[in-house]
Amino acid sequence: MRIVDVRERTVALGGAERSANINFDAMTASALAVVTDQVKDGKPLIGYAFDTIGRYGHGGLLRERFIPRLLAASPDSYALSDGIDPAAVWNIVMANEKFGGHGERSGAVGLIDAAIWDLKAKAAGQPLWQFLGGETPAIPVYASGGHYRHNDDVRLLKDDIARAIDAGNTRFKIKIGGQSLPDDMARIEGVLSALSAGMSLALDANGIFDAAAARAYLDVLDGHAIAWLEEPVTALDFALLAEVVAMTDIPIATGENLFSFDDARNLRRYGGLRPDRDLLQFDVLAAYGIVEYDRILADHATHGWKRAQFAPHAGHLFGMQLVAGRGLGGAEQGMAAESLFGRITAHLPVTQGTVSLPDIPGVGFEASPAFDDIFKDLT
Ligand code: MG
Repeated sequence: MRIVDVRERTVALGGAERSANINFDAMTASALAVVTDQVKDGKPLIGYAFDTIGRYGHGGLLRERFIPRLLAASPDSYALSDGIDPAAVWNIVMANEKFGGHGERSGAVGLIDAAIWDLKAKAAGQPLWQFLGGETPAIPVYASGGHYRHNDDVRLLKDDIARAIDAGNTRFKIKIGGQSLPDDMARIEGVLSALSAGMSLALDANGIFDAAAARAYLDVLDGHAIAWLEEPVTALDFALLAEVVAMTDIPIATGENLFSFDDARNLRRYGGLRPDRDLLQFDVLAAYGIVEYDRILADHATHGWKRAQFAPHAGHLFGMQLVAGRGLGGAEQGMAAESLFGRITAHLPVTQGTVSLPDIPGVGFEASPAFDDIFKDLT
């Protein structure tokens, strides 16, 4: 199999919402198509990938560095008898890249890796989760959103949660830390009052707290049933994270802004996280793709971390395929059905907090209602 073209398109996301850390007005994402010389069922075999949310598109890096390297490579250097070797592609695109300082390149490489896995699974005629060796297409999901709105915030938040409950969700995650603690408690208690037995709420501070703010929130949250507190502190301050973890029995989730094996291992070594309850949210698309994710899983496994503690950030369909394919703890699903990220998986019904991935070869973008909006001009 030969890669004959790689096309990138930058998609504007634009949305009137914010977390404690960013707003989404000017946010972009990259869509990628890896075109091969193979034909399957009368159509050219194309691998698709679409960015994670919250880190902007990767078009510049892809067009200047990573796509040219891949197109310049001899097919002999990446081809296997049954298709393309993702690890070989990874080494080709990472040629002449220094160690460390991962920056945003990990997101560009993650897109290429994701498209290659889509290709491989399609060539095999299997859904990606099955191609990866997963046992079941059914995965736990949680409805993620609860961003701050510029106007009418609490009412719109409660409307979102009511819709997510109607849609079959049982676990929810909302943003905190972007306003005063009393105002945040009004959001939290508003949502908790709408949940019934067996449902739960997680809270995402997007890295905004210092030790004193974390202490203040944890003092008030103690006694509330909170599924987890996410990113209480900035992503790379492992000493501060360890200090906050030691303050509470509430599970802590973090890792979505660590983009490499190196950073994930440092989190394991120095972040004070507890394998019996805390959650690891490395974002496969932002962090060099499945080739690197497997290295992270292997390292953590040798230190007592079970796959159930891995709940990848965002990632949409690709993240869900990874969760099913590697037997991870759960996937994040966008709650805002009107947003592009909500629409990507809007065709997958949720039953009692579980999504069953459809029997479509590859990642399954072609069946998504957002496919045309994301991949138009690339097909
Ligand atoms: Mg988060």
